[in-house]
Amino acid sequence: MTKFYEVRRRDGAARIGLLSLNSEKKQTPLLFRIDSLSAGEEVIKVIHAEDAIFNDLFQEELHDIPRGAVLLPEVHPLFTKVNEAIPSLFVDCYVLSFASAMLSSPREFVRRIIDARNAIPPDTALWVPAIATAENAALLFYMGVDVIDDTNAVIQGYQGIYQVEEGRVSLRDLEDLPCNCSVCSLLTVDELREKDSKEKLIAKHNTLLLEKEVKKVKAHIRAGSLREYVELKVRSSPFLTAVLRILDLDEEEYFEKRTPVARNHGMMANTMESLKRIEVKRFASRVLERYEPPKRKILLLLPCSARKPYSLSPSHLKFREAIERYSGRIHELILTSPLGVVPRELEVLYPAAFYDIPVTGYWDAEEREWVSSCLRAYLERNAKNYDHIVAHLSGTYKELCSRVAEDLGIDVVYTCKEGEEVTSKEALKRLKERIAELCGDKERLSGFEKKVSMLKAMADYQFGIGAGSELISRKEGEKIKISGKFPAYKLSVHGEVLARIVSEYGLLTLTLKGARRIERFLTAYTVHIGDFLPKGSILAPGVVNADEQIRVNDEVIFVGEKAFGVGRAKMSGWEMVESRRGVAVDVREVEKIEQS
Ligand SMILES: [Zn+2]
Repeated sequence: MTKFYEVRRRDGAARIGLLSLNSEKKQTPLLFRIDSLSAGEEVIKVIHAEDAIFNDLFQEELHDIPRGAVLLPEVHPLFTKVNEAIPSLFVDCYVLSFASAMLSSPREFVRRIIDARNAIPPDTALWVPAIATAENAALLFYMGVDVIDDTNAVIQGYQGIYQVEEGRVSLRDLEDLPCNCSVCSLLTVDELREKDSKEKLIAKHNTLLLEKEVKKVKAHIRAGSLREYVELKVRSSPFLTAVLRILDLDEEEYFEKRTPVARNHGMMANTMESLKRIEVKRFASRVLERYEPPKRKILLLLPCSARKPYSLSPSHLKFREAIERYSGRIHELILTSPLGVVPRELEVLYPAAFYDIPVTGYWDAEEREWVSSCLRAYLERNAKNYDHIVAHLSGTYKELCSRVAEDLGIDVVYTCKEGEEVTSKEALKRLKERIAELCGDKERLSGFEKKVSMLKAMADYQFGIGAGSELISRKEGEKIKISGKFPAYKLSVHGEVLARIVSEYGLLTLTLKGARRIERFLTAYTVHIGDFLPKGSILAPGVVNADEQIRVNDEVIFVGEKAFGVGRAKMSGWEMVESRRGVAVDVREVEKIEQS
């Protein structure tokens, strides 16, 4: 039983946790100070992920550390190497052995950490010793490392290497110290150099810098923005940029299993790596697999807007005005980078209502290729269901669309002329006229119908095709009501709420009644619990089984002999099963099952 480590918060593979040492509880991401380790203040049980002994590790890693400064023999009694015969359940923190070998290549860096993390239980901490710097720490934590130390900072300091956030600089090249720490703020460059040999001040600065970086990473994990921070951090080094690209290409499964389905935080897509984010790929695949377009005569392709949800932007208000009288015959699909295509009904979901991109009018080849592939996949699957396809697009959007349509041999009616803005009077007038010609009779979609199709599509997207129809279908004698202001709709039957849209997270949430209604569609979102009635949260030990595909922030139902209820997942399904500590489900509503 894990007694000493508990994950409290997650942001992708990164975690904030509590590691209990004999003297106190420490929060991860954690920086071990090597001087405090040698003082014997902290005791944890340790085993190497690769079953090498700690002794070897430290001889290999730290043999050139000046004696007296740190660890070496006196540290050994503090760490227990767990006997192979004892199940690893007793281990709380694993140390990656020979970590410096990771620095030989970006691929090795990826391999070593991902393999170690995959080999050990999720509710144990991983310590990657001796290689952390202020430059690479964010990436280490992003990959699922929980503990680092200041060995590298100290060793490099002893060697006269002054570390900065983006790597290191030579003191000889500096006129001023680019740092405000307690060491640097009191000294000039010359004074620092003079005093260093005696007082080891550069090492002190390096450690303080690393400490500050750990604090920054923690703040980003709490805010759900570590990915954005990592994209920014890796820019300082080709090595780290290569690591991130390899992670995105080769370790998709590792990160998909750990990435929440929704966040209450914007998603900045500022770099070419942003296109490869799990959130982007997941959205694109669900639009194909978990979305049924409503049956309408015309598909209308529109460009995205800076303001989200798109419906509230000035440009989309104009589009709506132009097509409103025929809205019952039109299905709207928004073309955008990096999400590809966003059906109107899904615009308030995460990340559709949450992303932001730099808009310059220039698109790079990879961005074009990705957005085109999303449109192509959508049209291949759905084009046959429409009588006409109309594209109210200009510039690159129009170019991409016409290339895809040509490839597929699909006719598209374009309503913007070369060089015309989509919001220009002429273009909007043309849109209105062409839609009128193609539709024939007017047919306006009522506000209620719009809301119904949105709730249906969101339920399908979250739980799978079929859940949406079941949720909104009118049963014998029922009166369905949708109240609330866009996008915070509330679906109810005879005054009892079934579901509501929580726009802060871009999610549809269920009430107990709503969950009962679509229960047969929720098998993949069911957490089986033990023989108890939950009060407050459900903890991991209470989980008997949970579907592998449940992700953080998914809406789930939980079922046990004594209880049925609905809540939000706080860890992935596989993690609920493998963990022995931590909150698995935040309970929203629960009912007691009477035993017969
Ligand atoms: Zn400093």
